[in-house]
Amino acid sequence: MKRYDVLVIGGGIAGVSIGYELAADRTVGLVEMESSLAFHTTGRSAATFLESYGGRVIRLLTTASRAFMEDPPVEFTPPLLSPMPLLWIGAHGAAADVRELHAEVVEFVPDVRLLSPADAAAMSPLVREDWTELAMLEPGASEIDVAAVHAGFTAGLRARGGEIHTSSGVAQLQRTEGGWRAITATGEAFEAPIVINAAGAWCDDVALLAGVEPVGIHPLRRTVFMVSAPDNTDASGLPLVADVRGTFYVKPEGRQYLCSPADETPSLPCDARPEEIDIARAIEHINDATRLDVRHVRSSWAGLRNFVADRTPVVGFDDEAEGFFWFIGQGGYGIQISPALARVGAGLVRDGEIPTDLRARGLRSKHLGRARLAGLTGLQGH
Ligand SMILES: Cc1cc2nc3c(=O)[nH]c(=O)nc-3n(C[C@H](O)[C@H](O)[C@H](O)COP(=O)(O)OP(=O)(O)OC[C@H]3O[C@@H](n4cnc5c(N)ncnc54)[C@H](O)[C@@H]3O)c2cc1C
Repeated sequence: MKRYDVLVIGGGIAGVSIGYELAADRTVGLVEMESSLAFHTTGRSAATFLESYGGRVIRLLTTASRAFMEDPPVEFTPPLLSPMPLLWIGAHGAAADVRELHAEVVEFVPDVRLLSPADAAAMSPLVREDWTELAMLEPGASEIDVAAVHAGFTAGLRARGGEIHTSSGVAQLQRTEGGWRAITATGEAFEAPIVINAAGAWCDDVALLAGVEPVGIHPLRRTVFMVSAPDNTDASGLPLVADVRGTFYVKPEGRQYLCSPADETPSLPCDARPEEIDIARAIEHINDATRLDVRHVRSSWAGLRNFVADRTPVVGFDDEAEGFFWFIGQGGYGIQISPALARVGAGLVRDGEIPTDLRARGLRSKHLGRARLAGLTGLQGH
């Protein structure tokens, strides 16, 4: 039997980042059901840092994570971010969507600016002036080295004395006098007064093991595939191009482009796989809207983006189950918000307080607590 102050369930970015923060002053154990960490959603992302992405709380958390990403602690191997500007493009009829996005984003990202189709086409050879009515440039968008971010949190957690147990899927969660006992499928047992549910798509399954009311997670499959750059040219330095109405995005990666239909297909928690139909739909949209002229797919994968009803993470102790802490619902932003969200989570575990700098930006525990979800059904739009 292993005993810790805190037991984290899940070894994706969520689990290792909050484990790292808490290991500064607590004993931390982390259990992961797979034989390696980051096997599920964390290992399948598009690796972007986009401050204009997501709702207000997400933008607040992303912008608050930039300083850490740009100047990380010693356990991390920099650079974690590499510049990759973002062009949001709107088709004819979607200019109002671009203007609305600009108005919403400018609060946290003051250097975003609207661009004419000609100016957008001058920045990216993929942009078609005849398709585009209006564009918005986010100059400070970046590519993230996801493996380096995850490895840094993992190394830091270990350096602070944390212990990581892989191939340790929690199969039972029992209440004890002092907290919780987790028993894995292979019979290992771990005890802690505080259990952190960072199980991604499986978070409601973990809640049910503990007899806790699920939050209603929606795992949504997203597809990604790689294609060659036209004429095998080097696309480095070009911007990421994304449709403001969310039908596709195209990210330069050396002599290839990473493409996605930005799909959101409801799924059960699983080892997600791409579907031909989603790739075919993306190729149609991308060939219609851009000059990429996709003909051949080199490789593809899929992952689950996990949201609760209002598309904002749930971070906080469960009101009905003492010592059971939610750290879930990071959706499509879990890597880019990880530094700030982990500090928020650790603050709420320690004394129920949001860190001062995030409070100053307007973040409150009620924005992240599960109580806000009462009465919300289904999943809100983008
Ligand atoms: C295609 C795609 C593109 C994305 N692009 C971006 C992007 O550009 N930028 C960005 O910031 N984010 C992006 N995201 C989102 C980001 O990847 C996620 O928000 C983040 O990885 C979620 O991390 P997690 O730790 O919550 O989940 P996961 O990485 O899935 O980790 C949860 C872990 O819990 C483990 N687990 C589950 N049940 C148990 C159990 N009973 N016992 C022990 N362990 C258990 C699982 O095995 C898993 O390893 C993207 C996601 C996808 C799918």
